This record gives sequence, C-alpha cells and structure tokens, in this order.
Amino acid sequence: MNRENLKFLPSIDRLLSEPSLAPAIAEHGREHVRNIARKVIEKARKAIAEGTGESALKSPEEWADVVKKAAGEFSRPRLSEIVNCSGVVVHTNLGRALLAEEAAKAAYMAAIHNVNLEYDVEEGTRGDRDDLVEELIIELTGAEAATVVNNNAAAVLLALNTLSFGGETIVSRGELIEIGGSFRLPEIMSKSGCALKEVGTTNRTHLADYEEAVSEKTALILRAHTSNYRIIGFTTQPSNVDIAKFAKPKNIPFMVDLGSGAFLDLSRFGLPHEPTARETLNEGADIVTISGDKLLGGPQAGIIAGKREFVSRIKKNHLKRALRCGKITLAALESTLRIYLNPEAAIKNIPTLRYLTRSVDEIRAVAAKAKERLEKYFGGAAEIYLLDDICHAGSGALPEMDIPSVSVAIRHKEMGPNELAAWFRRLSPPVIGRVGDDVFRLDMRCVENADSVIPENLTF
Ligand SMILES: *Cc1c(COP(=O)(O)O)cnc(C)c1O
Repeated sequence: MNRENLKFLPSIDRLLSEPSLAPAIAEHGREHVRNIARKVIEKARKAIAEGTGESALKSPEEWADVVKKAAGEFSRPRLSEIVNCSGVVVHTNLGRALLAEEAAKAAYMAAIHNVNLEYDVEEGTRGDRDDLVEELIIELTGAEAATVVNNNAAAVLLALNTLSFGGETIVSRGELIEIGGSFRLPEIMSKSGCALKEVGTTNRTHLADYEEAVSEKTALILRAHTSNYRIIGFTTQPSNVDIAKFAKPKNIPFMVDLGSGAFLDLSRFGLPHEPTARETLNEGADIVTISGDKLLGGPQAGIIAGKREFVSRIKKNHLKRALRCGKITLAALESTLRIYLNPEAAIKNIPTLRYLTRSVDEIRAVAAKAKERLEKYFGGAAEIYLLDDICHAGSGALPEMDIPSVSVAIRHKEMGPNELAAWFRRLSPPVIGRVGDDVFRLDMRCVENADSVIPENLTF
C-alpha cells in the first residue's frame, strides 16, 4: 500500500453522483450526506497516508455503500429504550422513574398542543405556571405554598440563594452529602452565594453545636437527608422537632433537603419508613425540597414546599426563571401528583411504587417464564436457574434497605458472566443485568412481562 493509492479515492462530487446514494440523499439531505462522505474519504486518505489503508481500494459503488451505512448509523436515535434488570429500581443512569401511563399521556398532550401553561382561560389573562401544581402539592404535603423547578439540585440551589445569599448556612458535618458525583452540598452552597458553617462531627452532632454556631451572620439551618449512606453505631443527630424549636424563636429559617422524599408513608406497604414531605413540615421544617423522579415516580423536577413567606421569596428570585420547568414536565408532574390523591391508585399505577411494593411471588412467576424462554433459546449451552436475590430502591431512596427480589441466573459454557452481560446488551432493546458473585443475573423486580427480557421466538 502506498500513497499512489490516494488517487483511487473518488472525489466527493463523484461519490454523491452514485445512483445508489440517491435514496440516502433524499432521506437525509444532500448536505448531511456530503459531510458524511467527506469524513469517510478523509478517514481513508489518512489510513493510506499512514500505510494502513489496505481496505481503501474500493470502487465508487463500494464507497457509496460505506457512506450509505454511515448515514444510516448517524440517523439512528441515540436515546433508546432499555430493559432494567439491574437490581436498582430507580437507576439514575437508566433515567430514574418511569411515568404512570396517565402522566405519560399528559406529557404527550402538552408536547403536541398549545396549553394554558401561564394563562387563565376563564379570565383571558396571564397566569402563573406554578398554579398548575401548587394546589396539589399543598393538598398532598400540608405545605402553605409550593413551587417547582428543573430538579432537586436546582431546588436546593434556588432555596439557598434566596434564603441565605451573603449569609451563613449551618449544616451538620454528618450531612455534607455528595450525590452521584455532581451534587455536592458544599459546592452547591458556594454557587448559591452562601457560606457554609459546619457543625458537629461526622457521626455526632448535638443541638448545642447548632446553638453555638448561631451568630448575626446566620441566615439558614439546613438538613440534608443522608440519602445514599447511613452513619451507624455511635451516632447522634438532634431531631427535626428539636432544631425547629430552637430556630423558630431566633427567626432562623429551617430547611430540609429530603432528596427522594416520599409522598406516601411507604411503611403502610411493607417498605421501611422514608421521611415524607408532610411529616417533615409537621416536625417544623419551614421549607422542604424533593426530587420529582425518585420515589415520587414522576418526571425530573424539584419540588419546593413550605411556609408561604419563604416560598414567595423563592418564587420572586430571578434565578427561578433560569431553573423553571417546561410544559411537558409540568403536565407529567401534575398528572402524577393527581394520582397520589388516592394512595391505593398511586401504588398500582405509578411504576416506581408498583415495582417497589410487588410481591416476590409475582416476581418469581415472571422470572420462571423468562427462565423457560431462555432455556429454550440457549439449549444445553447454559445452566439457568432462579435465584432469591436482593435489589435496591436506588437514587438515595431507602438506602439501608435490601429489598428481596428474584433473579434469573445464567451460567454459560462458553461465555463468562461479563460476556453474557454484553450479549444481553446487544438485544433489541438492550437488557441490562448485573454480575454478582461471578454469576450473570437478570433481576426481575422491574420486569412485568417476560417478553420484554426475551421475546417468545428469539432469533438473530
Ligand atoms: C437526589 C438528591 C438530590 C439531587 O436531586 P436531583 O433531582 O437529582 O437534582 C439532592 N439532595 C438529596 C438529599 C438527594 O437525594
């Protein structure tokens, strides 16, 4: 192979005139196909120059084929459905909560229509987008007022910036959380313009520590739900009630970042207790912040609820404009919250809650069907069995809780567990399992139908 071969590469115009490219040009547009052709030829030119271009000896028709394939690959949607057998119900990397069908329909409606996002239809005047959900949040949490932003990180940022800009916010050292790498409380505080006043130690903070930290600079006391870890052993933290009692006479607002924050008492449904917005407000918090797409099971959003005095200041903050939700989010959130008015319906219709509260027997039945299908497909090449397994709520919800589940475990004669994991990721849609104790597993807690793991007659 030598540089002489460069002259065999077709010109871009010559390539685009290939009749076999006409359909691709009609579908993707001439300019786009031209750009792709340029990249393809440029790559071949480079390979030839580097002496690795053996495959560059192609006819223009063959080059046209390469360009056609590249254009097809480029137009394949990047965001695509996957099947969550990871053993983590609310998985941030897999897009967290799934919307209830009603909520998805509401989002679709809002996506394709003009809506009364900020418009009072009766009066024909301008409205406030918060009105769509505020009343529902008040009803469900007992708050005096509420507002909604892009996500809970935005909710914390906006609340801190409003209530503590230029002042100090007191936080226990046991609650200086980092969530998923990019949400670190100290960084969010400095971005919101408030100074962090750490009190106590990692495992023990006393009310007296808060009391000693108070000065004329104190603007806010913040607690953060330690959502993705537990400090256990020799520990103490004052209760919300104690903090509220001490903060109130001093006129220091008290905010609790609940993170996953349940809207229902999950202990009623066999899960451990997770603090709800209502009880935290009842305990005396002035403001709570909650993620929309964790335990709540709605769209990505951040809910701020609490005393009217503080919520109205938060609503007036100009940052709110930069952090607000769009109509599609608000439609899905409104619909999700409406379902919560009837807790039984919420458990049944909101996928996150349905998955978390499903019985192991029900999961086992779906797992048995998937096992049967997989046995049929793999034949003697794999040993497939049901495994009593443990899964997690994820996204910092119910952190200490091992939730019993059932996995389909697969040992393959030729493929190791990681190869099996890759094999399942190549299915359409990809199935995401996990490897535990050197065995590949498909956790079935979030699977309602064996078909979604393995179609009846899988062929490649
Ligand atoms: C998840 C979480 C956040 C961040 O919420 P997002 O909705 O992901 O922005 C903040 N605080 C706590 C305690 C959390 O659990």
